[in-house]
Amino acid sequence: MSRRKQIYEGKAKILYEGPEPGTLVQYFKDDATAFNAQKKATLQGKGVLNNRISEHIMVALGRVGIPTHFIKRLNMREQLIRKVEIIPLEVICRNVAAGSMSKRLGIEEGEPLPRAIVEFCLKDDKLGDPLVAEEHVTAFGWASPSEIDELIAMTLRINDFLQGMFFGIGIRLIDFKIEFGRLYDGDMMQILLADEISPDSCRLWDLETNKKLDKDRFRRDLGEVTEAYAEVATRLGIMKDNPGPVTKLSVVRNEKSDED
Ligand code: UDP
Repeated sequence: MSRRKQIYEGKAKILYEGPEPGTLVQYFKDDATAFNAQKKATLQGKGVLNNRISEHIMVALGRVGIPTHFIKRLNMREQLIRKVEIIPLEVICRNVAAGSMSKRLGIEEGEPLPRAIVEFCLKDDKLGDPLVAEEHVTAFGWASPSEIDELIAMTLRINDFLQGMFFGIGIRLIDFKIEFGRLYDGDMMQILLADEISPDSCRLWDLETNKKLDKDRFRRDLGEVTEAYAEVATRLGIMKDNPGPVTKLSVVRNEKSDED
């Protein structure tokens, strides 16, 4: 598929060596996994949609002053990104109870939380990305106390921005997961938002109907997964400048996801 050197293959993305030092190419696959990869499927067109949605969000966040690893989108499935040292944490921000928090604390899904809550999970598939306390993060050196403060502050700013952005297109941002990396420049170190922000990593509910427009459609066998992602893209105004293959995606039905 590519002459470039593959650096890493994850569940939904592949990273290749970039054209210049300090850069990588991030390729968005159509693969979907859930429950720590016990459930798998290929959702035709998902990678193209997530590439576009994540680009849109990263560019918007960059404009409001959040530093990100995103440089530019290269094509339908690839982005040029800055190579960073990934902080081994999944940072989760929640506005409304759902998923693992509802299970863990017995709060009904859809219950608004008293305020935005930031959680840390250790990035370790073998352990199932366990929830960890700040004490673990600092004691094991995954991030320093000042880095934790910065991660929380950046996450809350990202949450404020994303909540407003999605509210404007009739979507409630229930929760999301983000990752961060360190960029070194001589003696200086900067924390950047890395990875992706897409319906794979956010819970997005229609404001009026509570219809799920995210990966829970795949996790919970609700069907029409790529159609929901395409709806998010359309509402964000992403589809209109690319009437070619992307438009077709909105009508692609994925047999596998429907029967999963
Ligand atoms: N999430 C993610 N990757 C993960 C775990 C969670 O992107 O490995 C996202 C998930 O889509 C949701 C949020 O983080 O938007 C909170 O997920 P939760 O802890 O409720 O986990 P789940 O119920 O998905 O296991």
